[in-house]
Amino acid sequence: MELFDHFGAEYEQVIVCHDPSVGLRAIVAIHSTVLGPALGGTRYYPYRSEDQAMADVLRLARGMTYKSAAAGLDLGGGKAVILGDPATTKTSDLLRMYGRFLDTLSGRYITAEDVGTTQDDMDLIFTETPNVSGISGTHGGSGDPSAATAYGLWWAMKAVRTDLDDTPDLAGCRVVVSGVGKVGSALVGHLVGEGAKVTVADVNDAAVARVVAAHGVGAVPVNEAHQVGGDIFSPCALGGALNETTIAQLNCRAVVGSANNQLATHDDDRRLAERGIVYAPDFVVNSGGVINIADELVGYDRERAYRKVQGIFDTTRRVLALSREQGKTTNEIAEAMAERRLAEAGAHNQRIRRFDGTARRAADIAS
Ligand code: NAD
Repeated sequence: MELFDHFGAEYEQVIVCHDPSVGLRAIVAIHSTVLGPALGGTRYYPYRSEDQAMADVLRLARGMTYKSAAAGLDLGGGKAVILGDPATTKTSDLLRMYGRFLDTLSGRYITAEDVGTTQDDMDLIFTETPNVSGISGTHGGSGDPSAATAYGLWWAMKAVRTDLDDTPDLAGCRVVVSGVGKVGSALVGHLVGEGAKVTVADVNDAAVARVVAAHGVGAVPVNEAHQVGGDIFSPCALGGALNETTIAQLNCRAVVGSANNQLATHDDDRRLAERGIVYAPDFVVNSGGVINIADELVGYDRERAYRKVQGIFDTTRRVLALSREQGKTTNEIAEAMAERRLAEAGAHNQRIRRFDGTARRAADIAS
């Protein structure tokens, strides 16, 4: 494929960062800065090929534009990937060099942790650039965003429950959580605390054992999770969990999960609607982490940030109501909401801009 064919009519800037002396091979994709600096995590992953890495970073960067726009944040969308196995190739020299590359981008891209990167990695990158978020509290940061993501997801479930049963109370609600990593396990804590009946699944037996021991929930094999009868199925592992086959086998009333890109294809939200299953769009319900991080850029206040995360309840309700009113899928409604914000701002913000100083406020707080 020719290089520019990857981008279609989208993407402002794609940067390749290369330093053989530390083994750094990274791609930064800035999808849009129409609403503000492009914020999105750095994924460190052993991609099978450079094409696969490029496809992943582009898809994820675009998703961040929609996520922040739908959440009402003044942030654009971007993402970065570092090619390699983090278990064997991640070094502090490599991360610091990566931070130096990010520092050259004039604040147009602000990074955060993602699959394969940690809060410690963000702290290390922060020694080279202020354009990083999710740094630890000792540096004035908000830390790992997973707890905020789980909190937002819990409020999204309450919104869906209200839509279905006229009550936000999840007591007695039967929820299956597939993937009990950082987000899924925190979500289970909220659900059990409220009296929901929770079943979990994960490819990692140790993760299942930890959650079962902590919360006394039931467990099923991963390939059966989506078929368990209940109210809400919550995919909290990898993308693509909802496809033609699994949608036909679902035995729930609603899907509300944290995984990015849950729909395998564009037709899958229509398939869910045809089965009468309420789908709460992934990029709406999993925006708690980025809402929390956005607060860090103006001087982190946890109480204020979590109040904003709770706003996912209203956003989800609005998406479900408009979907019914307009006869469109929930995904179509949420994308249209995001696109409207981008179109409104676009007329004023079409020039490629620097954002020096946006993340520097975080640096000021730390010093
Ligand atoms: P994580 O890596 O901590 O947890 C993922 C869990 O899923 C792991 O326990 C893993 O063993 C399990 N898993 C992998 N494949 C599976 C499968 N096929 N079936 C069931 N379980 C499987 O990741 P996380 O931070 O908890 O994120 C979960 C999902 O939510 C990811 O898709 C992530 O992109 C998305 N997300 C996370 C955040 C955040 O703040 N962490 C924010 C937005 C979106």
